[in-house]
Formats: sequence, structure tokens, C-alpha cells
Amino acid sequence: MTKNKIIVVGAGAWGGWSAYMLQRAGYEVTLIDKEGPGHERAGSGGKTRIIRMAYGGSQVYTDMVDRSFRLWEHYCEAWSEDFYHEKGSLWMFRGVDPAYATLSQPLMREKGYALNKVGLDQVAKRYPQIYLKDITSAFYEPKVGYLEASRACKVVKAKFEEAGGTYVNNKVISIEGSSKVEAVICEDGMRLVADQFVFACGPWMKALFPDLNSVINITRQEVYYYQSPPGHSGDDLPIWLEFREGDHMYYGIPDHFDQGFKLAYDQRDWSLDPDKDDRGVTQVILKEMSAVVANRFPDLKGAELLKHHTCVYESSLDGHYIMDRPDKFSNAVMLCGSSGHGFKMGPAVGEMVVSRLRDQKPFPEEFRRERLNGMRQAKSPYEA
Ligand SMILES: Cc1cc2nc3c(=O)[nH]c(=O)nc-3n(C[C@H](O)[C@H](O)[C@H](O)COP(=O)(O)OP(=O)(O)OC[C@H]3O[C@@H](n4cnc5c(N)ncnc54)[C@H](O)[C@@H]3O)c2cc1C
Repeated sequence: MTKNKIIVVGAGAWGGWSAYMLQRAGYEVTLIDKEGPGHERAGSGGKTRIIRMAYGGSQVYTDMVDRSFRLWEHYCEAWSEDFYHEKGSLWMFRGVDPAYATLSQPLMREKGYALNKVGLDQVAKRYPQIYLKDITSAFYEPKVGYLEASRACKVVKAKFEEAGGTYVNNKVISIEGSSKVEAVICEDGMRLVADQFVFACGPWMKALFPDLNSVINITRQEVYYYQSPPGHSGDDLPIWLEFREGDHMYYGIPDHFDQGFKLAYDQRDWSLDPDKDDRGVTQVILKEMSAVVANRFPDLKGAELLKHHTCVYESSLDGHYIMDRPDKFSNAVMLCGSSGHGFKMGPAVGEMVVSRLRDQKPFPEEFRRERLNGMRQAKSPYEA
């Protein structure tokens, strides 16, 4: 293969893995990031992200997670790293149809993964720490765990450099070209040219592609870490998710890395400017979160808040990914709209980018940008 130059903008989970996979596929890759891989303000910032197979009956995501699981495990072994920590997960449904679980089951079974319905009496016996009031059904998924998010991004970037890739710490401020991208221009005037370009800028994607404004929303996702009472560590409890009426979903990771009991939510109600807005604790969200955690885990009532992190979702209108060619440019791809569930997919996204650029294999139809034209905003990907 002739050496073909590729520039990847954005060293988060999607850009970092894409750059690594492209470099390994024989391209000459330059990876650019304005703040570094997995930094605090990026979508991939923070300590942990969950990887799970259950995907509400979606074939495309089930295939992608299956591939990602294999790749995470492969690279953990190949690099002697332990990014993946298997914990199992308890899916709880509070008065809502458990379709997200039941639709996942046949697709998972086909690939050899389990998602078992469990009686509430069994849950109560196994996990007496959980107060099950109002929970109407529960499922247990054994092969679920958390990935070390920020750390993995930094290691992927280091492995990319070891493979011969070039990393540049700079901010791309504009794109030069009309039907093709000729170059990207950086804040300090640096002009970088290549044959092909990959844009994976997470919450900052709209700054380079303003036409995404109508189809992507950036939201504030606060994560809380509470002091864990005895019996609430990752060895005592699984990862848990609770689906509630109104398409609200809350989830948590019991104490891990001694940083406390993690609690987060999947709601897209609070918007955020990734550069300008304050990222401190929002009292109204803290109040809601503290009530949720104390309701389900009574021993956490009044628990001390140890840590807080405001992260960002970069959500498409329907909560599904955008992997496509930008309208204007024939030699570029854009990877965005990761919609709060993209971290786990990093390795699979990287492979798909190689297939797209090297083998001209199209991205899945489901991820085309044009599907979003004229669509209304869904509250969450779990919305019927
Ligand atoms: C609280 C929270 C919980 C989540 N939980 C999960 C989970 O459990 N499982 C899961 O799979 N996913 C989860 N996600 C989603 C997941 O973290 C994101 O989908 C994923 O990390 C996005 O990766 P990315 O590479 O697209 O974007 P980012 O990580 O945001 O990376 C984009 C990068 O581009 C750089 N950049 C932007 N613009 C420029 C520019 N002009 N020039 C140079 N560099 C630029 C930025 O500095 C940044 O490093 C969660 C997200 C949040 C916020």
C-alpha cells in the first residue's frame, strides 16, 4: 500500500482508537488534540465507563459491542493492561415495560452472552443492601464491567506513537478546502495537510461543522461519588441500572478505586456549553441524585459527597451515532453523536474507520447524518 497521509482530529475514545487502528493498517497518521487524550472536559474524561452487551434489540450496536469486547480483551492482554474490570450488572425496571432487556435477550443469546430474568425475591436475598420498593422486574447480565476511561485514552495515544504515529497538541480552528479538505489550520497558524481526514471532536464538533447545530445537543451530565457504607463496594454489589417512568435512567458503580459509590443519570435535560459553562455542582441535580441513591440504597442516606465531575454528552436527536462523510468534503469522515454511550465502542469504531477508508466499506446505514433531517429531539435512547 502506498503511504497515505491521514489526519485525525480529536484524541478521545473515538479519534484515539481510529488513529491507532489506521496507523497499524499502514497509513501515516497525525493525531491532533487541543487538550490531550481523555482530558477532564472531554466526553472520554473521568475514571470509568461501563461496557455492556444489552442494547435494547439493536443489531448494529450488539455487533459493535461484541467486537469491542473482544478488542478490549485482546489489547488488555497484548499490552499487559487491565482497563476492563468485570463486575456483572443488575438491570431494574420501576413500573416500566422491561422491553429494553427482553428485546436484547435473543440477540445476545445468538452471540453467547446471557441476560437472565431474576425474581425480586432472589435479588432481595442476594443483595439485601438494595431496597426494591416499586421495582417490578429485574435482569442480571454477568458479562458487564467498567473500563478505565481517561487512562485507556492515554495508553492508546502512547501505543499509537509507539506504532509510528505523530501526535500534535494543537487546536484546529478551521478547515481549508471546498469539495475536499486540503488542510486543517491550527490556532497557532500551523497548517497540516493530508490525503484524508477524520474528525472526532466530541462536544466541540459543531465548532468545525456548524451544520450539526440542528442535530446535536450538548448536555450537562453530573456524576456523584458518595462515601460508601460497609457492604457497598464493587466486591459486594454489581453495577446497577434503574429504568423509571418518563424515560429516566439512573445507574451506578459501587465503590471502586476507593473513590466512592458512583451515581449518574441518563437524562438530557440540562444543556451545557463545553467551554463557557461552570462545571460545579448543580444543587437541583444533587438533590435529585441524593434522593435516588438513598431510595434504592438506604444505607447511603445522608452519605458524604466525596467527589463530583461534570461531564458532557454530545447527543444526536435520536440518541444514535453519526458516522458519515461531511456533506461538503469527499475525503473526510465525521464521527460524532456518541450520545452518552460511545466509550465502550472505541476499538470497534476504529476498525470501522479503517474499513471505510481502506476498503470503502460504508458505515452502517443507521448512522447516516441525513436520517436526522426534520427529526424531533428524543429524551433518551430508551424512549419508545
Ligand atoms: C457522565 C458520562 C457517562 C458515560 N457513560 C458511558 C458508559 O458507561 N459507557 C459508554 O460506552 N459511554 C459512556 N459515556 C459516553 C462516552 O464517554 C462518550 O460517548 C465518548 O467518550 C465520546 O468519545 P469521543 O472521542 O467522541 O469524544 P471526546 O472524548 O470528547 O473527544 C473529543 C476530543 O476532541 C478534541 N477536540 C475537539 N475539538 C478539537 C479541535 N478543534 N482541535 C483539536 N482537538 C479538538 C477534544 O479536546 C477531545 O479530546 C458517558 C459519558 C458521560 C459524560
